[in-house]
Formats: sequence, C-alpha cells, structure tokens
Amino acid sequence: MTRVLRLVLMGPPGAGKGTQGELLAHRFGIPRYATGDILRASRRDGSELGRKAQSFMDAGELVPDEVILGLIGEALDTPEAQDGCLFDGFPRTVAQAEGLDTLLREAGRELDAVVNLAVSDAEIVRRLSSRRVCGDCGTVAPTGEGRRECPGCGGGLVTRPDDRPETVLRRLEVYREQTEPVLSWYRDSSTRVFDIPGTGGVARVQELILEAIAA
Ligand SMILES: [Zn+2]
Repeated sequence: MTRVLRLVLMGPPGAGKGTQGELLAHRFGIPRYATGDILRASRRDGSELGRKAQSFMDAGELVPDEVILGLIGEALDTPEAQDGCLFDGFPRTVAQAEGLDTLLREAGRELDAVVNLAVSDAEIVRRLSSRRVCGDCGTVAPTGEGRRECPGCGGGLVTRPDDRPETVLRRLEVYREQTEPVLSWYRDSSTRVFDIPGTGGVARVQELILEAIAA
C-alpha cells in the first residue's frame, strides 16, 4: 500500500498505542515517532538540540515544548518521513499540537487524522496491574502466561510501582487533564478525529483503525 499518511495516535497508558502504532507503521512503511524514542535518538546523535534536551533530562526537568518541537521538526525533515509518519503519544499538550500544526503547515503538509484509542479506566487498571516486568533488565513479560521469570534473562518478575492500581488511576487522571484539551483542540480544527474502542483484540482494533482512516 503506497499512500502518504500522517497520523497522531492518542490514548491512555495501556490502551495499546505502541502495538497498534507499530502495526500501522509497518503496514504503511512509515516511521513511528514517540517522544521518548525521539529523545533517545537525539541523545545518540549528539546534535545541538539533542544535547539541550539531555541537559534538561539530566537535571530531572521536563524537556520544554520548544526543544521537543525542534527535534520533531528535525525528524520530519529526514528522508524516511517524506511519505508520512505516525506520532505515538505526541502531542501531549495543546501547545505541542499547535507547534506540530505550524511545523507541518510550513512544510506544506497536514495531518490525515487523529486516532484516539478509547479504553475504560477499569480495563486500563486491569491491564496494567496484571503486567509484570523484569526487575533486572526491565523486559515486559507477556501477561496471562503465569510466568515468574524473565523470558530474556531469567530475573524475577515484579509489578512496577507505576502499575499499581492506585498509581494507574492517578496516571489516568493526569492523562485526561493533559490530553482532553488536545483532543478538543483537534475536534475544533479541521482534523478528523476517530474514537476507536481499544478493546476486542489487537487484530480487531487494527481493522477498525484501518476502516476509519480509509473512509
Ligand atoms: Zn530480564
């Protein structure tokens, strides 16, 4: 399938953005940009912006929007992004959404759609609190297999403090406070926003996304 596709994938932690994003990126042959990946890549490149981002992270501070947007701008300029790209968990704030809009407009491009994966709080809590990660190497273990050891290194599996139900509910609250305005901003703009139920299995969710963006 050859088609230019620029997509923003949104949804709470545990909604399956990573899985769906990877499938879409593979299907359309486009890069997937998550803020964390962009920051890690910039650190490797050692570009001026990358070093700037690193200095904020070293100080334990949030990387400011202008630095993140600068890095996104650099990514959009790369040859791999010329036929489209997928943003995963970005933009996180209205300021970032406005910045992305400006970057795209300056390049004569636009977003095709925003896909919002909708999953209930109860389901997110269930998913994340049953997730186990390796205490030694950080590998996320497949759920539902009743494993007690890391499939990678044999280390013991633990529940991350971040994945405890009470913490998950707080993360969801923060997520909603931050991103509801972003979704409203997109709904008020001319960008198409699709709310896709993020339940019913990976293949089914992917199918629903493909149907929505093809329309
Ligand atoms: Zn391990």
